[in-house]
Amino acid sequence: GMMDQMPARVIAKCMEMGMMVTINARLDFETIQVLADEFGYDAQLMEEYEEEVLGVDDSQAEDLEPRHPVVTVMGHVDHGKTSLLDWIRKTHVVSGESGGITQHIGAYEVTTSVGKVTFLDTPGHEAFSAMRARGSQVTDVIVLVVAADSMVMPQTVESIELAKREKVPLVVAITKMDLPTANPDKIRAQLAERGVEVEQWGGNVSCIEVSARTGEGMQQLLETLALEAEVLELKASKSAHARGAVVESKLDAGKGSMATILVQNGTLHIGDPFVCGVYAGRVRAMFDDRGKQMKSAGPSAPCQVLGFDGTPQAGDELTVVEDEKTAREIASKRRMAARERDLRARKSISLESTYEGV
Ligand code: GDP
Ligand code: MG
Repeated sequence: GMMDQMPARVIAKCMEMGMMVTINARLDFETIQVLADEFGYDAQLMEEYEEEVLGVDDSQAEDLEPRHPVVTVMGHVDHGKTSLLDWIRKTHVVSGESGGITQHIGAYEVTTSVGKVTFLDTPGHEAFSAMRARGSQVTDVIVLVVAADSMVMPQTVESIELAKREKVPLVVAITKMDLPTANPDKIRAQLAERGVEVEQWGGNVSCIEVSARTGEGMQQLLETLALEAEVLELKASKSAHARGAVVESKLDAGKGSMATILVQNGTLHIGDPFVCGVYAGRVRAMFDDRGKQMKSAGPSAPCQVLGFDGTPQAGDELTVVEDEKTAREIASKRRMAARERDLRARKSISLESTYEGV
């Protein structure tokens, strides 16, 4: 941190600002912000401060247990992502739950013959990058959907690049195999050109031919996903304070701000106070993807949450904290920091445009 690197300069700066500090003094957040501005350590200090308040990171937890995989379906528009998910969801409804009205949310948990799987229906790439920047991986495996009667398209390529960049294992699903015009070999050739070497051609990427019309290949796809997940040895703590990611959010006229949260570690309970992006809140109600009320949600579970004091953005992290006061404090500090960053960015833009005219 800054204190180890240049305490003399920090102390000098504090004195300049009329503060007496010693090397061992703990600086309050406002002071740190001012100093951070001077030295340009903003983001790092923010993290250090929050780490102190929000607690240790999950990897140090001792009660780690296996958790089920989170799988994201990606690919070009109209290639069949939603249909593929709908098929899996329709055929794996727990009996007795079928009366529930299917909610159109981007995250579902299904129980298959090979275990539970949480599916995400293409969250925006921005959300992905935002989560990655914070070091939190939302997805364990990516299913790349390519329509057998089409070809590798721009969003197919983007998804391949994203998987590579984020180092997430890829499984290819060539879909719409029921169509007479299906040409999976053409797709495999185009994928090879993009560096995706499928197993049929001696590579190590699983490639399953499926159809959301007939269900062909779906069981094999699920088994492949289970296998990929097994290799990853996914683990999380059920007892920890929950930490999750916003998959999608909206402002509902009646219910207020709501967000679909993917719990990544710990268990989220009704009543839990939390900070989420630049907002705070307390879990007022939780629903599963069928609109059924939930009391809690554990690792890898998606849930719709009510109780935010603003609408968070996809990619924001939700962290449960000790009490609402702490939540509001952190949220307001984040808002301050965000405002400052915004102001500085605008200043530099206006400077740039001034110089452009010279
Ligand atoms: P998304 O944009 O990737 O989510 O694509 P959709 O799932 O909305 O599907 C786009 C179109 O392809 C729709 O008209 C679907 O009915 C159709 N479609 C999706 N999967 C299949 C399939 O397996 N076979 C056939 N014949 N059509 C499909
Ligand atoms: Mg879709």
